[in-house]
Amino acid sequence: MINHYLSAFGYLKLNHSIGLSNDHASVKDKDEFDEHLERAIKSFQKNFHLNVTGRLDSSTLDNMIDSTDIIGVGMPGSVLAHAAPPTIGKMHFDADENWSIDNPNGDQHDLVSVATHEIGHILGLQHSTNVDAIMYPFMNRGMAKRKLSDDDIDGIAALYAPARKT
Ligand SMILES: [Zn+2]
Repeated sequence: MINHYLSAFGYLKLNHSIGLSNDHASVKDKDEFDEHLERAIKSFQKNFHLNVTGRLDSSTLDNMIDSTDIIGVGMPGSVLAHAAPPTIGKMHFDADENWSIDNPNGDQHDLVSVATHEIGHILGLQHSTNVDAIMYPFMNRGMAKRKLSDDDIDGIAALYAPARKT
């Protein structure tokens, strides 16, 4: 489960294309896998300003449970921003990223797209496996994704809207 989490957020590279549904780690032997896992945990701890131990201590697990984030594709493991679910209502952006507030060029990330995603988390949405959704956890440089997909709308409606009549 932990390796799925770390893989989904780009910390652990399984031998598949990046995505949410990596069901099988294809690293061959267990020692090699443990080494990869330790490195992935260290990278996660660094990103969340925790003690970098490489071990799954309680503060690391708490952060995995409470924090959600969005990953820039192209620089695997780079966390653009993260946010906490209700009722904490906090989000952080990585100030070292090259942000655009208008039309991102090929080197920039679109602040509005990422902020929309993080606000989704603040409202209680989790990640979607639908690549068109704002709540899909990966974003390319140069990409602006500002329009809610049906998947995002269904998610928020399920959380907040009264039941629709069919
Ligand atoms: Zn996210």
